[in-house]
Amino acid sequence: MDKTSQQLEVVSTGATVSAGRTLVLLGHGSHLNADSAQAVRRHAQAVRERGLFGEVIEAYWKEEPSLRQVLRLARFRDVTVVPLFVSEGYFTNQVLPRELGLTWRGPLPPQGVREVVGGRQIHYTRPYGIHPAMSNVILARAAEVYPDWTPQDTALVVLGHGTGRDPHSREATQHAAERLRQGGRFAEVQALYLDQEPNVSDWPSLTRAPTVVIVPFFASEGWHTLETIPADLGLTGPVTRLGGRTVCYSRPVGTHPTVTEVVLRLVEDSADTGNTAADLDPDWQAAGEMLAQAVTSGAGGLTVGELHIAASPEGGFHLCHQDDVGRADLRAVPLQDLSAWTGRSDEGHHRPIRTGRTLPRGWFAAVDAAEVRAALHAVYPAVLEQAHLWGLGQLPVTPWPETAARQSGRYARVRRAPPEQVAQARRDLCSACLRTPLWAGELLDAAAAVPLPCPEACTLLVSQVRQLLSGEIAHV
Ligand code: SF4
Repeated sequence: MDKTSQQLEVVSTGATVSAGRTLVLLGHGSHLNADSAQAVRRHAQAVRERGLFGEVIEAYWKEEPSLRQVLRLARFRDVTVVPLFVSEGYFTNQVLPRELGLTWRGPLPPQGVREVVGGRQIHYTRPYGIHPAMSNVILARAAEVYPDWTPQDTALVVLGHGTGRDPHSREATQHAAERLRQGGRFAEVQALYLDQEPNVSDWPSLTRAPTVVIVPFFASEGWHTLETIPADLGLTGPVTRLGGRTVCYSRPVGTHPTVTEVVLRLVEDSADTGNTAADLDPDWQAAGEMLAQAVTSGAGGLTVGELHIAASPEGGFHLCHQDDVGRADLRAVPLQDLSAWTGRSDEGHHRPIRTGRTLPRGWFAAVDAAEVRAALHAVYPAVLEQAHLWGLGQLPVTPWPETAARQSGRYARVRRAPPEQVAQARRDLCSACLRTPLWAGELLDAAAAVPLPCPEACTLLVSQVRQLLSGEIAHV
């Protein structure tokens, strides 16, 4: 067995087989970078293909489907939620539980926490980055970039983000480094950080071996791993000669396929051992009935926002941009790629809020009747569930002051935003969005078969208000 295959032994037993449970994978996402969600999307698809859960859905802090929406999307009342974060701290202990509607705040016990939210039994686990098997993922990344390392000549740097705001955020990196140190496969192992001491820029004085392998303990590929770290360290590629030493720089741990196995192991280790009784959520079922009726009742099909859904003469259903109906030159997009495909505008811009009036054109998706709901969700996440609740008069609306009061960290300043800045953010963003901001007192036209209510300000709007306040965007 070679070095790499030994290191990849992180295999879940499959004990979590649970046809009656929804698995939710949570990622950070980004308002700017469409690729930031790629790792979560791939792990979700890999778990889906294993067939261990009744369904697998993703949600993001900065993109849609959002953390605030995701539990309503769950088909089953039994839901396991796993944060796809590498470290434990402010996000996993405060922000994610708060946004999900959990009452828990603070460090999580090893088995995670269980709470009932909106009639669903939620099991919220610790993030995958704390799992001991992450050491194997680090080794696998090291072996990719430097397959022939010899322990006596090689130093390993596990590079975490770190933050002075949360002393716990460095612990997962530290623990992974400590386990690898004990493994004795490197002359030295250091846990260094981007935003904290010991800082990664000090690697020349903190390591002695002639070859240094740097493995970013990051959840996704992005601005830091692709730009700031190589620029700050003077790296020119995977292997760089610097000051008479060789620096090997790997891809981040979070995009490694083995992380899927770590996630499954984490669920198993949390003693979440199966529930095969498919206890469907009644609201979820009713929303599905609403869609089935809407797509089959009109002869010309159903329009939701800019999306057109119609029965296909060949059987099944055909989805495309409403302005592309009748075109024969459309490109076929498989259901599993539909979310990523419609996540960019025609100009290639990221669409973190999917109801922006920028749905790309030139594509179609052919799905069967059982897939129409998933296809609608891929294009416009959560709109069906929100429309259904709004139709019943049961969609909770959160006015701006409540959304502002719940913000923390760098966003806490939005509590002080004067009404004119919130109004400007609304003009900037909501006017380009298909949803109607009920949270700002606007009234929704009920004529549409699937109306698009916006019950609370999205994270993009909160971010816009913060930037207006800080002067990063000019107030006009
Ligand atoms: S806050 Fe405005 S931009 Fe954001 S989803 Fe709601 S309507 Fe759209």
